[in-house]
Amino acid sequence: MDDEGYIAERLQESGLTKKIALKALENLLRFIYTSSYQGKAVRSTIRNYEMYFSEVEQLMLYRLETRCTGSERFNYGINAVIAIKRDKYTCQVCGEKDIRCLEIDHVNGRTHEKKNKEQYYEVNEFQTLCANHHRIKTVVERQQN
Ligand SMILES: [Zn+2]
Repeated sequence: MDDEGYIAERLQESGLTKKIALKALENLLRFIYTSSYQGKAVRSTIRNYEMYFSEVEQLMLYRLETRCTGSERFNYGINAVIAIKRDKYTCQVCGEKDIRCLEIDHVNGRTHEKKNKEQYYEVNEFQTLCANHHRIKTVVERQQN
């Protein structure tokens, strides 16, 4: 995370030479690997450049895209993407780092469910949890209500 050398290496490895293609790939790498990048990713761009990413990275790209610009954008938004990068893709309870089983939790529940796009959740309203700890938190919360 936040390793400029790694981004540069990946760009070089791609073999891409056109400026516009390199910029598109750079933006996707920044989307998943740099905490300061707050741009969004678009599905068509991911599709065009997915061959430059591993299977796990492709999963990350598509899942984060769904939450910041796709079908789940009203329940999450770009702040969810910023939060999972803040957590360095790590479960905040057990330290699990396997992206395949990580989820983005609404810390205080989905209180904004009916809000529109101008009312995204704040970054601090999200945390990264593994699927098990997310399930456990949900069950505990249900028992308390
Ligand atoms: Zn966990």
